[in-house]
Amino acid sequence: MARYRRQTGSEVEFLTGTDEHGQKMKGAAAQKGTQPKKLADEMAKKFEAAWADMDISFDRFIRTTETAHVDVVQDILDQLWKNKEIYSDTYSGWYCIHEERYWTPKEVGEEHLCPDCKRPVEYVEEKNYFFRMGNYQEQLLDHIRKHPDWIIPQTRRNEVLGFLKQPLEDLSISRPKSRLDWGITLPFDDSHVCYVWVDALFSYVTGSNFPGTQSENLTNCCWPADLQVVGKDILTTHSVYWPTLLMASNLPLPKQILAHGWWLSENAKMSKSMGNVVDPLQLREQFGTDAVRWYLLRDMPTGSDATFTKERFATRYEELANVLGNLASRTISMIAKYRS
Ligand SMILES: [Zn+2]
Repeated sequence: MARYRRQTGSEVEFLTGTDEHGQKMKGAAAQKGTQPKKLADEMAKKFEAAWADMDISFDRFIRTTETAHVDVVQDILDQLWKNKEIYSDTYSGWYCIHEERYWTPKEVGEEHLCPDCKRPVEYVEEKNYFFRMGNYQEQLLDHIRKHPDWIIPQTRRNEVLGFLKQPLEDLSISRPKSRLDWGITLPFDDSHVCYVWVDALFSYVTGSNFPGTQSENLTNCCWPADLQVVGKDILTTHSVYWPTLLMASNLPLPKQILAHGWWLSENAKMSKSMGNVVDPLQLREQFGTDAVRWYLLRDMPTGSDATFTKERFATRYEELANVLGNLASRTISMIAKYRS
């Protein structure tokens, strides 16, 4: 998409990056016997290198541990706090460390398992800060209804509309440092860090050089984004949490959200325990970057899941070499022959 836009004369700023705070990072670092920041440095380097290897033409790679980003998040939280969009309350209930989110008693059931990842949840009782997300339900619904193509594909839009049929609750945006200290400190209470998702979402604003945040220079600013591309598993955070946070912060919403599907392996979700993980970087080693890119472009319908099989990959590889390669080669030789 970025290449196509550049080729057709648009000015393009392609932003990607890593979100590096939260319990999962802290846990992973502890397991490796290292510090979260050190692990984040290693991972960011790996991702940046992998995207470069795959010829992904990003213009800016943002890391949520960058000082500029920490400043942006603290500025915005401070404003939200002053505008009474954030309040403190006691939370008691069930918490899944894996998704870093709370669940209701009904959702965890009698066995106290996370409905998403099926891991055991833990009971917590703690002071939390909440964002008045519920106040923005009507405004969000209104926006989705007035902009039929704001969330694409339509199936995902319908999912969000379905989700918004329930009353929208306020969002817990903090974690006490006594439990988790790897995050951005709240500007109005230094015993809490910001919930990792809230911190991560605002990286889009930091990475776009929004005026009043990172840079005062309007010409460098490319927020709001024309398009945000996200995985279907993080649709709620991007089409409910994110726009309502932006509304409360008086910032414009992204113009469109595209939720992409998953890359399945022989019709099952890829997982290490199933031993069916197909590593695009390994494919690249064997067949080259263009072969992998062509396969993904050709075989993965936008928005839907796609299944990887060796046979399909081979078919697409053939197509690239024999159909497109052949066409290019003939065209070039005809240009050489008939044009001076
Ligand atoms: Zn979970």
